[in-house]
Amino acid sequence: MMMLDWTRRAACLDLDPELFFPISMEGPGRSQVEQAKHICQGCPVREPCLAYALDTNQAYGVWGGTDPAERRELSLPAGPPRENVPARPLRGGR
Ligand code: SF4
Repeated sequence: MMMLDWTRRAACLDLDPELFFPISMEGPGRSQVEQAKHICQGCPVREPCLAYALDTNQAYGVWGGTDPAERRELSLPAGPPRENVPARPLRGGR
């Protein structure tokens, strides 16, 4: 299988994949997810990793510091403009 260029610099390259792909994202798996996300915070290829996960609809595991639910949120199309939301904060009387 071809290795994507950015994966060579991944902080998770030599780590246990189970940390990033726990059996469940809840219960004990939740702490694995949090550990994985922490590792992603310092990863030099976090951006391309997240972009890849979004482009390829990765439905499982932690990618680019996000879990599947967070990626679903990021993938949602922008909704219609919300009404009754002031364009500027109202504080300051301007
Ligand atoms: S951002 Fe996280 S999942 Fe992606 S390569 Fe880096 S450590 Fe691995």
